[in-house]
Amino acid sequence: MIDTATETTSTPENNATLPNFSDLGLAEPVLKAVLEKGYERPTPIQAEAIPLLLQGKDVIGGSQTGTGKTAAFCLPILTRLLEGGHQKNPRCLILEPTRELAQQVIAQLETYGKYLDLKVVLLHGGVKYGRQREALDAGVDIVVATPGRLLDHMQQKALTLKDLDVLVLDEADRMLDMGFMPDVRRILDKCPDKRQSLLFSATIPPAIEKLSERMLHEPSQIRIGGGRKPAETINHAIYPVDDRQKFDLLVSLLERIEYHSVLIFTRTKAGADIIGNWLNGREEGSASVLHSDRTQSQRDKALKEFKDGKCDILVATDIVARGIDISGVSHVINYDVPENAEDYVHRIGRTGRAERSGDAVTLYTAQDKDFLGAIERFIGKSIERKQLEGFDYAYTPAMQHDKPRKKKRNRGYQAPDSYKPRWRR
Ligand code: AMP
Repeated sequence: MIDTATETTSTPENNATLPNFSDLGLAEPVLKAVLEKGYERPTPIQAEAIPLLLQGKDVIGGSQTGTGKTAAFCLPILTRLLEGGHQKNPRCLILEPTRELAQQVIAQLETYGKYLDLKVVLLHGGVKYGRQREALDAGVDIVVATPGRLLDHMQQKALTLKDLDVLVLDEADRMLDMGFMPDVRRILDKCPDKRQSLLFSATIPPAIEKLSERMLHEPSQIRIGGGRKPAETINHAIYPVDDRQKFDLLVSLLERIEYHSVLIFTRTKAGADIIGNWLNGREEGSASVLHSDRTQSQRDKALKEFKDGKCDILVATDIVARGIDISGVSHVINYDVPENAEDYVHRIGRTGRAERSGDAVTLYTAQDKDFLGAIERFIGKSIERKQLEGFDYAYTPAMQHDKPRKKKRNRGYQAPDSYKPRWRR
């Protein structure tokens, strides 16, 4: 079992004692592409994982994002696939829970593999089958997919996994939350027994532990810390507010803070649509909305406009919370407190990435008491409460901050009066 609560946070820039990329055994063309990308040194997870993966070992690892995890598995996979030449069927399958994460992995494979002649195909739902089928027919080395669409292609005999050398299951606990486990098991059944398998997961609930026993053979464990700890570069605070004043407070905050890109999280898809519409109803506003009920082109457009800086507010559900690598998010606003304590760390982790500073604000109503309690227990400390100066707050019980109770003094031993000062007798 992996201890995801270790305190050693690894970020791309924070360790000068690490080896050089040229010491890790990567193929020359891969190394060239990495150095051109401007990475000076491998991150801790890369330094640990790359040699193991090059030896063909199975690995189970914490999936904290922002640690360079994607390159940690992409670079050795590209190096290993260089041997063996093209085949009609894929030799590597990378499974991702969301389309956005799958797209991100493809982008990294294309960057690091730009001097290689390897074919990479992205398969996810929400788009037509035709182009994906044509790409598969032309022969493919690496498939990056979400589970449902992959199974569709397999059922239509457009793809077989019988020649697979490497299988990567990324964000496994997220797959579990999203109900993908039956699909994942069906995919595993179609993979050859002799293969290298990698499993990444932020937490290891019993279902993932069982899956890992079935999927991995004598795996090496990679410990990636920081799973419970928000990055130190993030200032985060709680703003208690009455439920009916939430939107007004959001608008006042947006007027007051100097942001250049704000990510606003809601708990529900309907909530994201409503907040997006309200924000767009303002004179200043241009907000995009991203959640899983939007069409693929709407999702792509929303993310692209936000990444390119064309739109400075993105309202989203937790689909964006994990792993999406958007540089330069200056503020995260949790319009709703997340129900899942771990999602708090993921959400606010969208700002303050790669050692940049960032601010995260959470609007907190009295109904969210239990959720907030769970978050504070999860991160191991109380989050600062703040009020926006000049905002005309209505009173709400959420403003009462129940500080952790002090330990009671031990009253078991009563000193005899003669040992007490006169005033305490
Ligand atoms: P990930 O954890 O895979 O989401 O990566 C987070 C970010 O770190 C991505 O933008 C990567 O391009 C970047 N990155 C990955 N490896 C390195 C490295 N060795 N040095 C600097 N940045 C890196």
